[in-house]
Amino acid sequence: MMVNLAALLQDARKNKYAVGSFNVYNFETVRGVVEAGNELGYPTIVAFGENYLMNMDLNEISALVRATSKRVNIPVALHLDHCKSFDTIVRAIKAGFTSVMYDGSALPFEENMRRTAEIVAIAHAADVAVEAELGAIGGGEFSNEESGEEIYTNPAQAAEFVETAKLDALAVSIGTVHGMYKGTPKVDIGILKKIAAAVSTPLVLHGGSGTPVDIVQECIRNGIAKINVNTEISLHTVNQLKATLGENRSYHLSQLSLSEIDSVKEVVKKYAVMFRPSC
Ligand SMILES: [Zn+2]
Repeated sequence: MMVNLAALLQDARKNKYAVGSFNVYNFETVRGVVEAGNELGYPTIVAFGENYLMNMDLNEISALVRATSKRVNIPVALHLDHCKSFDTIVRAIKAGFTSVMYDGSALPFEENMRRTAEIVAIAHAADVAVEAELGAIGGGEFSNEESGEEIYTNPAQAAEFVETAKLDALAVSIGTVHGMYKGTPKVDIGILKKIAAAVSTPLVLHGGSGTPVDIVQECIRNGIAKINVNTEISLHTVNQLKATLGENRSYHLSQLSLSEIDSVKEVVKKYAVMFRPSC
């Protein structure tokens, strides 16, 4: 069943677990994410980014997720990942997404806050949740997302931002990166603690791929209620397909499609038990 993201995340923050937000690019990844969540009884966020509009349009992904979520027993949210375009956000809301992320993190603070508040007013009128970002998340290896200089989130600004814009979820920059880490992650739990003390809204960690389990769980104990995973879904699945194709056998494309679903499920389940150990 499809749900609004806000209620899912409030429960997660209150009960100190995180809901995984897994990026999808096609039907196989949608099935992998939703079926893995269903097998674990774990609520799931299907995330779709603007980068993948060449693969599917907003109405197509919405119809697929809606159909897939009807045959499972877990809450499923359909989330528009990092979006700078007002027009795309409105189209996603019309297409049936249940949450959107407006990414104004590259803008000056006041302008990011003002534009975010405008989006929130539109989205809330349609019962759609909004995530926004303050600070800027750095980039690692194999990332498919744009990245610039890393800027840690300012805790005092975070409180003003969330309150003024009436946000449902705040993405914070505390040292995780989009993509895989080049060295040891330097995640600043001290900053996270200050943000969590100032902001009761659920917090979001981007760059879940490759983040060590002890760091992830320390973040969850300190207010992180949604964790995004993108790069590892693609990396793991492509590596599995390479290994399969390297075997000296011929495959029908339909078989490869099923093995793709299984690979996605492996990644989702690995992270699900990390994000909510009671899974
Ligand atoms: Zn991100």
